[in-house]
Amino acid sequence: VLMGVWPSMLDAVMPDPGRRRGLMLVMSSPSGAGKTSISRRVLELEPELTLSISVTTRPQRPGEIDGVHYFFIDQARFDAMVRDGELLEHARVYGYCYGTPRRAVEAALASGRDVLFDIDWQGAQQLRSAAAEDMVGLFILPPSLEELERRLRVRAQDSEETVRYRLAQVTSDVTHWPEYDYVLVNKDFDASVQAVRAILTAERLRRRRQPGLGEFVEQFRSLGG
Ligand code: GDP
Ligand code: ADP
Repeated sequence: VLMGVWPSMLDAVMPDPGRRRGLMLVMSSPSGAGKTSISRRVLELEPELTLSISVTTRPQRPGEIDGVHYFFIDQARFDAMVRDGELLEHARVYGYCYGTPRRAVEAALASGRDVLFDIDWQGAQQLRSAAAEDMVGLFILPPSLEELERRLRVRAQDSEETVRYRLAQVTSDVTHWPEYDYVLVNKDFDASVQAVRAILTAERLRRRRQPGLGEFVEQFRSLGG
């Protein structure tokens, strides 16, 4: 809907934006740190970014749309997808199964689009070993444990038991921050969104992600005679 509100800045700063290679931006955080909210906003602002929609066996929350936020599937279907190699990575997180459908990601990357993943550290590890060159890892931390608990309760979409279980996982989740390329503390929401966009821009401009660069620079060789 917001496509085109902010024209792609890449068109302005890349010689051949059409030929660029897609990257995989992988965001992880303890539950409640804000990664879903940040990723939704970044997706609205970045027309060249596509969300990888995971499959999950977790119950649907109010406001969540099947096929938009997740594909909600049962255990039998999940097991069949694992067996048939349809998932790029998969893991059990907070008691449910989650996985990334392979086909959509491969199609997006092949057409030069960037893909955003909201997945846990286990999934990030699997993607890094499968596609280290394409992957950019970002870990999001909450400002404090108190604030994390407050956010989990404000969201008020999980049962008390679920909130407690997720809080109990924080300590082990945060130990994985050194496995990521970037780390940010989500204090101010808008600042976090801008930081993620800055990371995206910088990573898109990496030399190895610009296949048109060699040809473009050739034109300057003739100048000196
Ligand atoms: P929320 O993060 O609190 O909104 O809860 P969710 O149930 O939406 O997600 C729980 C955890 O599962 C989060 O850490 C997600 O990043 C993670 N997750 C979601 N989809 C996938 C996936 O496809 N693969 C993996 N490995 N983790 C996922
Ligand atoms: P996650 O996907 O990491 O579990 P969410 O995006 O669902 O987290 O955020 C958890 C709650 O915290 C939501 O109610 C969200 O609106 C709120 N939130 C997110 N970022 C901030 C922030 N910077 N300041 C205050 N509240 C925030």
